[in-house]
Amino acid sequence: MATKTENMIHLTEKYGANNYHPLPIVISKAEGVWVEDPEGTKYMDMLSAYSAVNQGHRHPKIIEALKEQADKITLTSRAFHNDQLGPWYEKVSKLTYKEMVLPMNTGAEAVETAVKTARRWAYQVKGVEENRAEIIVCEDNFHGRTMTAVSMSSSDEYKEGFGPMLPGIKVIPFNDTEALKNAITPNTAAFIFEPIQGEAGINIPDEGFLTEAFKICKEQNVLFVADEIQAGLGRSGKLFACDWEEIIPDMYILGKALGGGVFPISCVAANRDILGVFNPGSHGSTFGGNPLACAVSIAALDVLIDDKLSDRSLDLGNYFMEKLREIKNPVVKEVRGKGLFIGLELHEEARPYCEELKKEGLLCKETHETVIRFAPPLIISKEDLDWAIEKVQKVLS
Ligand code: PLP
Repeated sequence: MATKTENMIHLTEKYGANNYHPLPIVISKAEGVWVEDPEGTKYMDMLSAYSAVNQGHRHPKIIEALKEQADKITLTSRAFHNDQLGPWYEKVSKLTYKEMVLPMNTGAEAVETAVKTARRWAYQVKGVEENRAEIIVCEDNFHGRTMTAVSMSSSDEYKEGFGPMLPGIKVIPFNDTEALKNAITPNTAAFIFEPIQGEAGINIPDEGFLTEAFKICKEQNVLFVADEIQAGLGRSGKLFACDWEEIIPDMYILGKALGGGVFPISCVAANRDILGVFNPGSHGSTFGGNPLACAVSIAALDVLIDDKLSDRSLDLGNYFMEKLREIKNPVVKEVRGKGLFIGLELHEEARPYCEELKKEGLLCKETHETVIRFAPPLIISKEDLDWAIEKVQKVLS
């Protein structure tokens, strides 16, 4: 008799488009940092749905907000006002120190919104000639899977068979202010970057890069747009990864943990001189700003702040990295990270190690072939991290 796990994987593989290569595990329950398969085996989640579950699985306060709101109203569309959007705007505005916010659902849609904002701003405010606006992005970026986002990508794998790509995009090496300077022209609308590259393998720029890049953009009247979808909201040990250099970018792009791993919600936040370029009819989304997402997001942000998850991430991340660095094994090339946003780079393929870790009860995912990413929910305890480190030690020895 096939197990429920086998049946579920069979159905997924039979009917689902083949656009993912998940580890062979089915998750049917979760709480905090722990998930469970249909046979009752428990695993520690060290991925947090790519940092969407920073607050931990099914945080009680977030679930309570979800249930309470579900009993009232879930969707109005933006044809009408709803009573959750205003308070949510205010919360995000205060958190980002930005005057305006525009809600969407997924990260990639928020990236689309940032690109549309930057282009319109270039024409309406900066005075760039119509259809000539340029966007500068970094090599190895990950901004999502829509046509705009893959057009911004430097990965052939992400683009293959999907052409033609969106024009007006220039790719420069990550962490290279000289290249940024040289790439800027009078038509440059924005520099869009991840302050820490997540999917590329937890790539951290040199100290001073953000400060210098910000200065260059300010001198050249180019929008400095931080995609904090993965690195933001406590993941890197600060509320925003740009806080590491005390930079407030012109625009934040947020997603993932904005919905506490419970309901998708994303947004861009910027001041009126930038986000003010939109007028009714120029952008939108049926589900963007829906009351259910807003209610969940308000609770998710409250948990993040009230439970001081950024500070937890910083302290526990330092502790975990220290322990990882104590593992003496020639297969380990580097341990790098900020907060609980950690990459363990190997000299060989990471996937078999992730499969071994899974057998030990630890769910990790390889990123960019040779890197194991450790990004547990930020509510994780030190004891749980000690348990995890034991498993990592075992698999690496
Ligand atoms: N930007 C960054 C930095 C991301 O890490 C991701 C997702 O991993 C995205 C954008 C895309 O977000 P979504 O998958 O919600 O569209």
